Amino acid sequence: MLEMEDVSVTYGGVLTALHGVSLTVPEGSCVALLGANGAGKTTVLRAISRNLSRHGARLTDGRVRFDGIDLARTSMSEVVARGLVQVPEGRRILGRLSVEENLRVGGMRRGRKAAAAARERVYGIFPRLAERRHQQGLLLSGGEQQMLAIGRAMMAGPKLLMLDEPSLGLAPIIVGQVADVIRQINAEGTSVLLIEQNAAMALSVASSAYVLELGRVSLSGASGELTETDTIRHLYLGHSGGEVSAGSVAFATTLQPWSGNGPS
Ligand code: ATP
Repeated sequence: MLEMEDVSVTYGGVLTALHGVSLTVPEGSCVALLGANGAGKTTVLRAISRNLSRHGARLTDGRVRFDGIDLARTSMSEVVARGLVQVPEGRRILGRLSVEENLRVGGMRRGRKAAAAARERVYGIFPRLAERRHQQGLLLSGGEQQMLAIGRAMMAGPKLLMLDEPSLGLAPIIVGQVADVIRQINAEGTSVLLIEQNAAMALSVASSAYVLELGRVSLSGASGELTETDTIRHLYLGHSGGEVSAGSVAFATTLQPWSGNGPS
């Protein structure tokens, strides 16, 4: 479904942020992209969503295809219309608008019927948003704002949903809820590319993952296998929860079924 092949990107022609990165998100899968601060994760997203020039960056090599179409030859609006939708880092919701108005904005490009059906689906996935549908976005908690950001992206009817660090700044129990929601969305047929620093969370959701280090893919494979590698254990799982085993156990306790849906 999404194929990134040998992509290199520079900022200002000086700093090479990506060096020949290749990754694939097969249809129906959930794939994680892991890496520490500055590894290049956001730059990968920018390359996919054709958002490089706004940040002074440019693709110097490689190509990105979505559903067999070269994204370099496709306009941004067509990319979204084809079902490639991103939840940006930092949950950029429209704070002055209500929950429902935020969702309406997300479904703006769709017909009334499709948008209404999508809204009901979002409220089904996020009962908390349904309860708060008339509340202003800025009055929501951090976790609820993240749910709204995901809900708004779902309104566009994505075939592939790309999430940029959805766990950032959230309490562990809320991270567990976000993980459950991503599992549910994927189980219902939407492919997912999950960008995360929180490897424990990402590997508990994704079936496979890529690890970026200094702009290069240093490791990739099935999540279960990667969890056993020293790179992941030492660099990421340990990092997010103190001692490796303690962090993993603590995390596992937060991944309880939410909205009645457990791991797929
Ligand atoms: P983080 O988790 O901190 O967002 P990241 O893995 O997403 O990190 P990127 O933001 O993609 O990493 O950054 C990769 C490299 O590109 C870093 O060296 C970073 O300093 C550089 N970089 C990112 N954005 C810009 C920019 N707008 N201008 C110049 N350099 C940038």
